Amino acid sequence: MERVEEIVSRVLTRYGVMNPPRIGDPFKGLIRTILSQNTSRANTQAAYRRLESLIGVEPRRLAEASIEEIAEAIRPAGMHRQRAGVIKRVAELILRRYGGDLKPLLDRPYEEARRLLMELPGVGRKTADVVLLFEGGFRVLPIDRHIHRIAVRLGLVPRGADYDEVRRTLEAAASPERYLDLHLGLIRFGREICRARRPRCDACFLSDLCPRRGVSNPP
Ligand code: SF4
Repeated sequence: MERVEEIVSRVLTRYGVMNPPRIGDPFKGLIRTILSQNTSRANTQAAYRRLESLIGVEPRRLAEASIEEIAEAIRPAGMHRQRAGVIKRVAELILRRYGGDLKPLLDRPYEEARRLLMELPGVGRKTADVVLLFEGGFRVLPIDRHIHRIAVRLGLVPRGADYDEVRRTLEAAASPERYLDLHLGLIRFGREICRARRPRCDACFLSDLCPRRGVSNPP
């Protein structure tokens, strides 16, 4: 077994099958993902719940709300004024282009669906891939900052590797039906063990495979 496959296999064994709650509505999933950018899980959830209860996470309601109203609702997410403008523009565009319904977009092939999502403000490759995986069931492995850091530390990709290089490297080492488990497992591993600062190499189940084991501040 190649090293990358051994790493993937251990992560999947350690964290097992994940069953995250699905929202079941790609628009709501998209807004929650935009709220999660550079925001902790707790603050993302608090902002999303407030937005749902104060305005409603629906394209028409958000398009008709003022930026100030949205900003106040999503205050726990931080950068709330800037993000409120993005959310309002996303809602307006989805109303205009798709009649407020993103579901037909998820019936398109992956590359096309991703490109169309990325035409929306605030939607980069990761946000598009998260929506496609969690709301559309696409076989794609989104790469967040934890997963990127882990792949570099483990020497699976070079330091300057871009998003899609990391994604393709990890996707090639896992079965597509386990991409969701691998995505969530690697994020947990990044939060609990291979942390950005002071990684817990002494408690790491990948240490025998890691070229940066024991380096006090690995990149
Ligand atoms: S040995 Fe340390 S740097 Fe390497 S993957 Fe484990 S926690 Fe991260």
